[in-house]
Amino acid sequence: MKKKLLIALLAIIATLTCAIIFAACDIFGGNIGNGNDNETNGSNANDNTGNNTDDSSGDKTGDNTGDNNATTTPIHTHEWSLAYTEDSGRHYQTCSSCNEKKYSAHNYSNLVCEDCGKNFPVVVGTSSLKYSLNTDEKSYYVSGIETNTAKNITISSLYEGLPVTSIGEQAFYNCALLTSITIPESITHIGYQAFYNCSSLTSLTIPNSVTSIGEEAFIYCTSFKSITLPDSITSIGDSAFSDCRSLSKITIGNGVTSIGYHMFYWCNSLKSITIPDSVTSIDYQAFYCCSSLTSITFKGTKVQWNAITKGSSWNFNTGTYTIHCTNGNIAKS
Ligand SMILES: [Zn+2]
Ligand SMILES: [Zn+2]
Repeated sequence: MKKKLLIALLAIIATLTCAIIFAACDIFGGNIGNGNDNETNGSNANDNTGNNTDDSSGDKTGDNTGDNNATTTPIHTHEWSLAYTEDSGRHYQTCSSCNEKKYSAHNYSNLVCEDCGKNFPVVVGTSSLKYSLNTDEKSYYVSGIETNTAKNITISSLYEGLPVTSIGEQAFYNCALLTSITIPESITHIGYQAFYNCSSLTSLTIPNSVTSIGEEAFIYCTSFKSITLPDSITSIGDSAFSDCRSLSKITIGNGVTSIGYHMFYWCNSLKSITIPDSVTSIDYQAFYCCSSLTSITFKGTKVQWNAITKGSSWNFNTGTYTIHCTNGNIAKS
């Protein structure tokens, strides 16, 4: 008799615990499980050597195993043009056989790109931002906002005669007044927690010179509604857009290969996202509690979508979305 009572009691306790966990997910949402998971990535230094290429298909000589290669793999060695063509924040060479483009960073010397001839885009920014010298001693990064309370901020592209190449970690941390930021084409990296909790930030354009975004770079930016990430970006740190609760639309550029841990965690207004076919993994809880999600546009085939490695709970508590692939739709399963 006593034993039965004990079992019943245990069952009640277990049920209650489950209920509390689920309620917490709805009520407290983004504040559980966040913010404890980053090793500082120390990304102030501008370590971009400018060899970012978009030609993932490479120089294969016909050894195509055919798993999900819907796109054609060239059976030739690319022959890159000697001439470089300017494309705002970067430049490219073209293959004379297949017209594929190979992108790289401008190679400025005395404010002119030695390869394509582009003049360095001189932007005079908002006064009293703080700039610090990178370890290469050839460039600067934005290191802080000091006493600046301007709502609209423009970052300088040149400081003390040297290019400003990155936005340092926590540079605009907790800038609750900041509503818009203008990022010049000299910037190649946005650092760890650079815009942490910039809760009034509504306008953001990332130039196509940027190749990497650090962890939690835009976490808790609760006001911006849509964002387009340029094709130049090849890496985005974990939780970069976590808890961006007004974000309803995002387009990820063609250079990204993985959608990291908590990338869009608790973006509960997110309705549509465009994912390039270069993506091969979606990590743990990447879209956790994106409860408004209705449309995923995937720029590859259904076979390619199914081949993406997906971490556990990657789509926990998401909306009833459809995945639009190039050769048909897939319903949420
Ligand atoms: Zn080629
Ligand atoms: Zn150039």
